[in-house]
Amino acid sequence: MKDRLGRTIEYLRISVTDRCNLRCIYCMPEEGVRWVPHGEILSFEEIEHLCRIFAPLGIRRVRITGGEPLVRLGLPSLIACLHNIDGIDEINLTTNGILFAPMAAELKDAGLHGINFSLDTLNPAVFQRITRTDRFQDARAGIDAALALGFAHVKVNCVPVRGINDGEIAAIAALALHHPLEVRFIEMMPIGCGKQFIPVSMQQAYEAVSAAYGSGTPYSGVLGNGPASYYSFPGFQGHVGFISAVTHEFCSQCNRIRLTAEGYLKLCLHYNRGIDLRQGLRAGLSDETLTAQIRAAILDKPDHHRFTADADAATLDQHTMNAIGG
Ligand code: SAM
Ligand code: SF4
Repeated sequence: MKDRLGRTIEYLRISVTDRCNLRCIYCMPEEGVRWVPHGEILSFEEIEHLCRIFAPLGIRRVRITGGEPLVRLGLPSLIACLHNIDGIDEINLTTNGILFAPMAAELKDAGLHGINFSLDTLNPAVFQRITRTDRFQDARAGIDAALALGFAHVKVNCVPVRGINDGEIAAIAALALHHPLEVRFIEMMPIGCGKQFIPVSMQQAYEAVSAAYGSGTPYSGVLGNGPASYYSFPGFQGHVGFISAVTHEFCSQCNRIRLTAEGYLKLCLHYNRGIDLRQGLRAGLSDETLTAQIRAAILDKPDHHRFTADADAATLDQHTMNAIGG
């Protein structure tokens, strides 16, 4: 369906948990996180029920995220259920990859289409510094498992952090030289713990890659439904994408909405604005009523984020990114 600006909303990000097995410095505090109580998190049945309402409204692609989605027990069974819904063409996953390798085959059989792995470094010591854990090898094994099984899309997302991993940009891009995958650099967003960091611009990231491998050629093919600008670099098997949510806002092409683990339909990453679908579901509202509520909410989708402007803090989402889902 279209929002009031004529944007076609066809992509739903579903956070299945706010829990995570890492503590990335720009995403979550090390301690003192207040978890959403289990009873307030949508059950798989509730998520499936909502997806059966979203599909006729035009949602074609679903991305499962978190927190870390693979810490939620039984995730393959949810993917299999969503995969069977008429109208939903693709189920993708965003993960830190730690638990992926042992589950890879089961996830593929369940109908998982593509995976975005978040990996900010190839250096175990830097991994420890960013994620506050020593699970680098598990994360790296996840990517290898996905490549070995031939998933349709394998992407590696990296958030460069000034003074920590920004010297590794060319080395991380080289994953797309050696493997048929897309590497995407994502500008740090001033959300939650991310506010404490100065972003590395995507211009800088591009320059680091082109200094090492030669100039990139803009790639106009379709590599998913996100806002990355992709480039081909000489000799690369895959592509390298740059996502600058802050300096080059792409809100005018935004096609997405988000469902939080608590069942709140968020219309923009940056705003509170939305509706509590869990409350409606648990109050026994009919599918027709929920459909009407979702339609009305989508019409109210914010025009754009306010990362660079003064905004009324009360209207902005104050959650950390693990609770928003990225
Ligand atoms: N745990 C999973 C993972 O890390 O892929 C899924 C959830 S995580 C919140 C989704 C994405 O958000 C990750 O790629 C992470 O790097 C990104 N992210 C978290 N905080 C961010 C921030 N402040 N700015 C930009 N990206 C951020
Ligand atoms: Fe966990 Fe993903 Fe946040 Fe890192 S970015 S702490 S892996 S939710």
